[in-house]
Amino acid sequence: MRVGIGYDVHAYGDGDHVTLGGVRIAHTRGVIAHSDGDVALHALCDALLGAMALGDIGEHFPDSDPRWKGADSRRFLRHCGALVQAQGWRFVNADLTILAQVPRVGPHRLLMRQNIADDLGVRIDCINVKATTTEELGALGRSEGLACQAIVLLAHGDIARQNGHDGH
Ligand code: MG
Repeated sequence: MRVGIGYDVHAYGDGDHVTLGGVRIAHTRGVIAHSDGDVALHALCDALLGAMALGDIGEHFPDSDPRWKGADSRRFLRHCGALVQAQGWRFVNADLTILAQVPRVGPHRLLMRQNIADDLGVRIDCINVKATTTEELGALGRSEGLACQAIVLLAHGDIARQNGHDGH
């Protein structure tokens, strides 16, 4: 078994929406980012890469590379999901915590879970998305940006099959 953890934060800037878990959410501000600035998917990618000891998202998709300007982060997630299979691992589950004072993300959690499950080719009940404010404390609490933590568990393909849960 392998566990991986990821964290990402982006500051708010000009714009009229944020993208979280592949869901476009209307907001009075946007996020400052090279890609679409999806902190949920960035944290999840880092957790997946961490579990496989394959570095971090910045190595795989450098923000200096014009190919990733404005990129849909679901491309990054699908790439990381393909690496899981290519490396002989089986995805077990992921748990995400989004930290944001605004906007409200709770109503969008189900669609985020579905997007992530689709991109990784796993069942939706393998993906959990939680959301919390920071009780108006600190930079996130002042609505200067938003963040996400993610943790994933991978199992070796053979062991997962023996246990009867193959991630699908
Ligand atoms: Mg990021």
